[in-house]
Amino acid sequence: MQKDVFDQPAVTLITPTAPVTTPTHGGRAKCLQRLVRLSLPVPRTIALSFDTVHGIAGGKMPDIAAICAQFASGSLLCVRPSSEDPDWGGPGAILNIGMNDAAYVELSDRIGAEAAAGLYTRFVQSYAVHVARLDPDVFDDIDFIGQESLSEALRAYEDEAEEPFPQDRETQLAEVLRYMARAWEGTTARLLRQAKGAPVDAGLGLVVQEMALGLGQGECGSGVLQLVDSDTGLPQITGRYLSQSQGREALESGAAALFLERDPRGPSLEELAPKAFETLKTQAALMRERLREEMQIEFTIENDKVHILDGVRVARSPRAALRIAVRLAEDGVISRREAVMRIDPGALPELLHRQVAPEADRDVIGRGVAASPGAATGRIVFSSADAQASAARREPCILVRRETSPEDIRGMHAAVAVLTERGGITSHAAVIGRGLGLPCVVGAARMKFHLRDRQLISESGRIFRDGDTITIDGTTGTVLAGAPAMIEAALDDAFQTFMSWADAERDIAIRANADTPADAQTARNFMAEGIGLCRTEHMFFEADRLTPMREMIFADTPEDRQSALALILPMQRADFTELFRIMEGLPVCIRLFDPPLHEFLPTDRAGLRDLAEALDLPVSDVTRRVDSMGEYNPMLGMRGVRLGIAVPEIYDMQARAIFEATLDASAAGDPVVPEIMLPLVSAKREVELVRTRIDAVAAEVRNERGADFDYRLGVMVETPRACLRADEIAQHAHFLSFGTNDLTQMTYGLSRDDAGRFMSDYVQQGVFPEDPFHRLDADGVGELLALGVARGRQGHAAITLSICGEHGGDPESIAFCRGVGMDYVSCSPFRVPVARLAAAHLAIREKILVDQ
Ligand code: PEP
Ligand code: MG
Repeated sequence: MQKDVFDQPAVTLITPTAPVTTPTHGGRAKCLQRLVRLSLPVPRTIALSFDTVHGIAGGKMPDIAAICAQFASGSLLCVRPSSEDPDWGGPGAILNIGMNDAAYVELSDRIGAEAAAGLYTRFVQSYAVHVARLDPDVFDDIDFIGQESLSEALRAYEDEAEEPFPQDRETQLAEVLRYMARAWEGTTARLLRQAKGAPVDAGLGLVVQEMALGLGQGECGSGVLQLVDSDTGLPQITGRYLSQSQGREALESGAAALFLERDPRGPSLEELAPKAFETLKTQAALMRERLREEMQIEFTIENDKVHILDGVRVARSPRAALRIAVRLAEDGVISRREAVMRIDPGALPELLHRQVAPEADRDVIGRGVAASPGAATGRIVFSSADAQASAARREPCILVRRETSPEDIRGMHAAVAVLTERGGITSHAAVIGRGLGLPCVVGAARMKFHLRDRQLISESGRIFRDGDTITIDGTTGTVLAGAPAMIEAALDDAFQTFMSWADAERDIAIRANADTPADAQTARNFMAEGIGLCRTEHMFFEADRLTPMREMIFADTPEDRQSALALILPMQRADFTELFRIMEGLPVCIRLFDPPLHEFLPTDRAGLRDLAEALDLPVSDVTRRVDSMGEYNPMLGMRGVRLGIAVPEIYDMQARAIFEATLDASAAGDPVVPEIMLPLVSAKREVELVRTRIDAVAAEVRNERGADFDYRLGVMVETPRACLRADEIAQHAHFLSFGTNDLTQMTYGLSRDDAGRFMSDYVQQGVFPEDPFHRLDADGVGELLALGVARGRQGHAAITLSICGEHGGDPESIAFCRGVGMDYVSCSPFRVPVARLAAAHLAIREKILVDQ
């Protein structure tokens, strides 16, 4: 061996002990070394380091003669890219370097003139188009059959390049290396890989390998094999083999290729070359075990002898990735902890919901904020009433609204997906959509919503009408025309097993935000450890409650208010009893009434007339009263605890309903300890006042029922002042829960319902790194949060601290909450698995650091 060239670390013969690493030579070179270490039949290969390739791009060529001398004289070579992460791409492989007139004559004897001519023609074509950058159209029409094509290709090369096709292997190799090095450094390639997360200075390594031809007299050919199905992750020998072929031709050749394993659909390699097939299977199993990964093998058969040319990680769908990780751990190939770390929490939503199939045609007609994941197809309806009518006819529908309000809840329940023109990630449609597991795209402001004409106009001007079929893809934030193929959610055994492994590592609790029995059931199914936020206001929008609610709002005296609320009390009690029953002793945190009262009043003439009839008042009176209740800025007006103090009968009724439900639910099982939470608190006196009344209601219920119960009172910290005064507020509370939706709104002075209009511009221009309603703003809102946590603990050491804003389901925000020492996070039920996995990752990363 000419040692001198391989003493330079820049060019390294791949042997079991050669200094080859992924950060210096790339993943492919490292993988080939692992295969060599396993004594697998890998053709002789050398690796060029990132530095060497960078040098080549700058004109500094390594000693090509010395590289060529490493391979048998006259043998053909191939060059493949080897970037640090295979996902970052790289130029395509170039095969058969060294092919020239002399090799053609020699090869014709070995494999026949036809095959030799085909191989030479193919090489001339790929060299001409990629390396010499000649006009591809000139070479497109040449087929690869026979000597005539070869002559044609060589002539075309000479005409276009104004010189004969290079005959010297060293010259060819040097040009190929230069082409690949420069292709990597080109602007398009750089932008493409940066879009995939590669660093600006990501390097490219190259491997030069002696060809195992796949062409010849005995059984020769090439193929690709893997042991699992890429879509499902289930064990299944997958791939194709093609006699007399090279590279990945078998995958591209359609029906001509053979199956690998015996298959009813057609002939297989197992039947054609059973020994080679068995060898391949054994080698693939060895690679799986020793490389600790499902690998795709590129192989060649030459006269029944198997060569392994390359191994890459099997491409996989998110659901396959999870099953592969679980099976590798079950087979003892990797640890459970490693299996958990192999799945990105961000990939889970794709498993929890139906999705547009990856291979489906996507006719995109609009884009907005991806507010609630999953996909659904239905007919367009423009009102909640139409959605309900459609559901009654069992016709799936998509509710299209400018934005949704609490009045649309029933319409949302009836729809299979929601699309709105306005709104951001914490707008009403988004929050409710996530809670219901309903695919939802909001803020699709570039589409036109002509509600009166019942038309939806796509970004490019196509008109869609009431009843037309569209699909909402809430995972990607797109609106599609028609009904593309879907894949179902994958909550199978592998998923459950995987999540149980994640839970074993996790050290922060996860609860769900759940308002309805259906939400609570979903939360249980996803193993939430309780309800962290039950928003009660939607309960007042039920048809049988809206009228007493309106009577209560219009009542002149506390007695009248109480009698209207008395009608609602038994219904609220039933709501809470049901929630307690479903949660079976797990904590349930009920937030008292939060929105401004006028949200319950009608806005259109017909509604005002109906209300006037119900209240036996003139329409003009009702209209005046409704107008007088309007606020300039309702989100900062009389809502939350302010309403609780101004109209205390509402909270009294809710507290009574909670306590009576507590006793009812406790009668059947373990005692329930309800948690009651006050929204929008900004001063400790608010807590003192409400607490006194709730204590009084508790005493009344205990007296009336002759039974005892406990309850915990908490404060929602969602105003900046509550964060700043958390020490004194905490002294009056058992728990504090940070409502980061309102806290973000108030910290930025940014309306959560209007931010969607300009958020994408703001993020694109780098004003905000991310939508702060989506990812917690660690610098600003986070500082208030950290301060609130520290001051809360200062005021009350044993206090329970948590977050219940939408950020509770975002992995980075969870890291922040865990970092400042919160006891639990609470998020939409469908985000519970994501939160469980994200929390497990954080705990494992910390344990790994400690172990090091
Ligand atoms: C919040 O403000 O963070 C919160 C959870 O409450 P809501 O979204 O109901 O205002
Ligand atoms: Mg709030």
